[in-house]
Amino acid sequence: MPNVAFINGSFMPLAEAKVSIEDRGFQFGDGIYEVIRTYKGRPFALDAHLARLDRSATALDLTQPYSCAEWTHHVLEGIRRAAYPEAKIYVQVTRGVAPRDHVYADELRPTVVMTVREFHPLDRSVQAAGVEAITTEDIRWGRCDIKSVNLLANVLARQQVKKAQVFETILVKEELVTEGAVSNVMVVQGGTVVTAPEGSRILSGVTRAVVLDLALSEGLSIQERFVSQADLYEADEVFLTGTTVEVLAVVRIDGKVIGGGRPGPITQRLAAGFTSRVG
Ligand code: PLP
Repeated sequence: MPNVAFINGSFMPLAEAKVSIEDRGFQFGDGIYEVIRTYKGRPFALDAHLARLDRSATALDLTQPYSCAEWTHHVLEGIRRAAYPEAKIYVQVTRGVAPRDHVYADELRPTVVMTVREFHPLDRSVQAAGVEAITTEDIRWGRCDIKSVNLLANVLARQQVKKAQVFETILVKEELVTEGAVSNVMVVQGGTVVTAPEGSRILSGVTRAVVLDLALSEGLSIQERFVSQADLYEADEVFLTGTTVEVLAVVRIDGKVIGGGRPGPITQRLAAGFTSRVG
């Protein structure tokens, strides 16, 4: 069954999956989500994604309908039914269906949606060459640590990416680099890997945590602090981390060449280390 969907406990073909127009996800963006991918058919870091889903739910006073074990069961079943070589699993929980009113009733039943689609990894040639990025003002709200479906600022930022014909945009708030529109950003300065600290200004990426752990185990020094936009251009290396991008070198930002204009040695080392961790 290609492109599997799941709504509130039932699997169905994606084309048949429907939710009410009174769903608060549709009306208010009142919901949370996760994106998980498989390696060799197995979901990567599923527990970390489910833990983050739990944190997002708690932050929004949203009832999590399933335990970690139940979620795992549904995700594995979705992967089995879709039967793709590699899959991208999208899970979403919204506060539920109710007549439109900002205020919500405590007893609402959340709407749970999952889709399983084929995942096409980035081309090896893109990984090998690195990508180009632009910077955009980070106009997002004050709780970027919550993985909310309310993604309007990210949508506008990604549209700038499309217009500029680059790969990603690096968001800048008050002259400090926060993260990418769909990724975390790491900078190498004099052999140290620097990335924005966890907190309300970034989404704490599952891949970010894996890569920081990897860097430490490789004997690299890491610093969790903000870097300025000026320092970004002057960095020895810049790379993105994320579920779909893995560890991906950025070799040009706003038209300025970063480092040597090709993936640097630390980025390459971490990309190779990441590949061996997921394989
Ligand atoms: N930051 C933002 C804004 C994201 O949307 C994402 C992924 O979608 C990430 C960071 C990377 O998170 P993860 O490594 O958990 O995929």
